[in-house]
Amino acid sequence: MDHLYDTIIIGGGPGGYTTALYAARAGLDTLVLEQLSAGGQMALTEQIDNYPGFPAGIDGFSLGERMEQGAQRFGAQTRLTQVEHVELTSPIKRIRTSDGVFLSRTVIVATGATPRLLGLDREADWTGRGVHYCAACDGMAYRDKIVVVGGGNSACADAMILSRLATHVHLVHRRDTLRATKIYHKAILETDNLTVHWNSTVSQLLGDQRLEGVQLTDLTTHTHQQLPCQGVFVSIGRTPATQLFAGQLELDENGYLAAGESTQTNLPGVFAVGDVRTKTVRQIVTAVGDGAVAAAGAEAYLAEHTGV
Ligand code: NAP
Repeated sequence: MDHLYDTIIIGGGPGGYTTALYAARAGLDTLVLEQLSAGGQMALTEQIDNYPGFPAGIDGFSLGERMEQGAQRFGAQTRLTQVEHVELTSPIKRIRTSDGVFLSRTVIVATGATPRLLGLDREADWTGRGVHYCAACDGMAYRDKIVVVGGGNSACADAMILSRLATHVHLVHRRDTLRATKIYHKAILETDNLTVHWNSTVSQLLGDQRLEGVQLTDLTTHTHQQLPCQGVFVSIGRTPATQLFAGQLELDENGYLAAGESTQTNLPGVFAVGDVRTKTVRQIVTAVGDGAVAAAGAEAYLAEHTGV
């Protein structure tokens, strides 16, 4: 397999397929390597209402398929395969997959980040239907009591967003002090319809066919209580998919790929887009914005280094 692509994109989420669309449309020989199906994390979301152009919203799986089709229209190819190893330091990048080795002059890393899970029974079954990992994405569906798990900036931001939508928010944190920056402390403690459950964890998801509540465990007294709720938002951090790039691409202090708004990593010809890179707002719209920037970066790199 000695075909040399202009650009290979690792990961077929919104960042990956937007890069593919822009790159292919600019005439670059473009391949997307995706392990499952188009859309990435987005494909698991039942209803997306904050991606412009869809006044009635759209489900994430369909949006992923449309993004793939948009890139295909200009000649981008997709290969469903597992990337096993990458060598990115040379001008010709080598990507070993379960289907063989692919070569490219530029590589775009679009591998995303996965939310940390609570690890409870039925958590996977009810994901998207009572159990959520992004308040800005899914909070609008809820009006009644909501539980938010975590004590960091994300959990506090989520709790504040949800307190404006729901009758009551219960923030469940495993310690007696928030990890979040001070700016959140006052707001959290002074919001009327928000209760903090300190030194507590969600130890069970309760319900029959759908989520109807949670069991809280007090970690100091080891007692349990049942708390009825309509939804649980788990906000205990994310894990960026960077293992493949260890030792080659620099990471920031939180473990994300160190790449700013230019999407350029520490290696020439290698760019990072979407949730896997350093950024403040991880959303579909910010990932697609990265895609346009990375494709322009790859194009400029190729023009300078190979005259493509
Ligand atoms: P984070 O800062 O790592 O906080 C994760 C929280 O979840 C912590 O409070 C942690 O508890 C708790 N936690 C972790 N695992 C848990 C488990 N298994 N069960 C229960 N609780 C668990 O993650 P984040 O809030 O997602 O933020 C990630 C990064 O983005 C941070 O650097 C953050 O500052 C940044 N961020 C910034 C803003 C902003 O407004 N500037 C907004 C969002 C995110 P412990 O406290 O006990 O460790």
